[in-house]
Amino acid sequence: MHLSVDIRDWLDDNDEPATPALRSKVLRIARLIEYGGTLEPGEMRITLVECSRRPGRKACDGLLFVTKTEDDLLFAVCPICKNESITISGWQDTLYADGPPQPFPPPEPKDPALLN
Ligand SMILES: [Zn+2]
Repeated sequence: MHLSVDIRDWLDDNDEPATPALRSKVLRIARLIEYGGTLEPGEMRITLVECSRRPGRKACDGLLFVTKTEDDLLFAVCPICKNESITISGWQDTLYADGPPQPFPPPEPKDPALLN
């Protein structure tokens, strides 16, 4: 089954899911954007996004591969069943396009002794 999605259709102005019902779908696509957005065209990366297909009613064990195409789309496919594939457009200006968020320092511990 192939899904072609312009992620902007599923996001509100804050790059959050446009409706609560879209949350899990948006998070799945956002993860693929985090993995794929920083690729060079033609490069591919293995992700930790699980295939959603159930061939023969048994969950597929595949983890999606994502690649950036020459025309700047992200394309994800399951390498095991090859039965799930997703084309993502409209991802470039989202919060997820530059990969995982930057690290930040942990909050100050309440008890300095915890550092010893
Ligand atoms: Zn699969």
